[in-house]
Amino acid sequence: MLTFEHVTLGQRVLFGSGKAAEYLAAEVARLGASRVMVIASEFELPMARKVAADIEVALWHHEVIMHVPVEVADRARTAAIEAGIDLIVCVGGGSTTGLAKAVAMTTGIPIIAVPTTYAGSEATNVWGLTEAARKTTGVDDRVLPVTVIYDASLTLSLPVDMSVASGLNGMAHCVDSLWGPRADPINSALAAEGIRALAAGLPAIVADPSGLEGREQALYGAYLAAVAFASAGSGMHHKICHVLGGTFNLPHAQTHATVLPYVLAFNAPFVPEPEARMAAAFGAPTALEGLQGLRARLDAPKALADYGFTADGIAEAVQVALPAIPASNPRPVTEANLTALLQAALTGADPVTLSEQALEGATR
Ligand code: NAD
Repeated sequence: MLTFEHVTLGQRVLFGSGKAAEYLAAEVARLGASRVMVIASEFELPMARKVAADIEVALWHHEVIMHVPVEVADRARTAAIEAGIDLIVCVGGGSTTGLAKAVAMTTGIPIIAVPTTYAGSEATNVWGLTEAARKTTGVDDRVLPVTVIYDASLTLSLPVDMSVASGLNGMAHCVDSLWGPRADPINSALAAEGIRALAAGLPAIVADPSGLEGREQALYGAYLAAVAFASAGSGMHHKICHVLGGTFNLPHAQTHATVLPYVLAFNAPFVPEPEARMAAAFGAPTALEGLQGLRARLDAPKALADYGFTADGIAEAVQVALPAIPASNPRPVTEANLTALLQAALTGADPVTLSEQALEGATR
């Protein structure tokens, strides 16, 4: 019997390389906005100026910090209120989108998001804030951008290593949505197509970083991934990565790219149907082989130790992450097996041992 509950979030999506400025001007007019705030980090500002070339901007705001510290959010919110802003346009990666969401959450000001990485925050109603080294996330429909403008030409400047890490962050949305707390057949269909598009797009970016084709596939895949993730909710993978980012300040995309094969290996033996679906999307005998084959082609991030994590942090990471991991995770998570997972991810050990341990445990 097929029974499920699925919520599709309402959002307009405009996709076209080289069309961001044109799309933005049309959307600002359609929404009838007159006091526009553009949020973009200092580095993203030149891109934002091009995107906003055909609109009037009342306020430029460039104080953007990864994982949105609360004091940074407070300053942006105060600036928006004082300037009488009625529309936020964010141009940049997930950190920039995250700041726009923090402002929207308390003010209700609508957002048009113009993403320039494959993080996918623009397609979710999930916000994140960091205070005293603890990252909190939550769900609020007010933070969902009313419109997303995807222009792959804006991602051409994203260096290949960052494109790979960010694209694998998108891949993590697909994988985690197959066992997230609200996983359903619609999410699975979107996630499978997201895996296929990202697995095609990312190697094309590596082969031809200045070509648009791979960038478009990756952006399309990243959007599908984020829609699936928003519907399915945060699974084990995201809960672990939120702790590594919020408590240990590890870089978001690289952390996701590194941890993903370990969580996949950990859960795969317990989810035969989603596993087969992922394998098919990768065009590989198993999902893990598909992911690892792709990661090898991309020279993807390998070990958390390369990003500043140390063995000293494992016990604290386990203590903070364990209670946050959904009880519905397909494989029961314990202090011991989560410690083993993080130890393996720390050094870049072969993740297949995590699947083998699960299978040994099941037959014992
Ligand atoms: P980021 O936004 O921090 O960007 C990483 C770096 O790349 C920055 O220095 C940025 O200036 C630069 N950059 C961005 N676009 C570029 C481009 N086109 N060319 C060159 N450089 C560019 O990193 P991210 O991985 O995009 O986002 C990470 C943040 O997003 C985290 O805080 C994460 O929690 C959040 N996030 C939230 C959700 C959600 O649903 N709420 C989903 C995914 C990510």
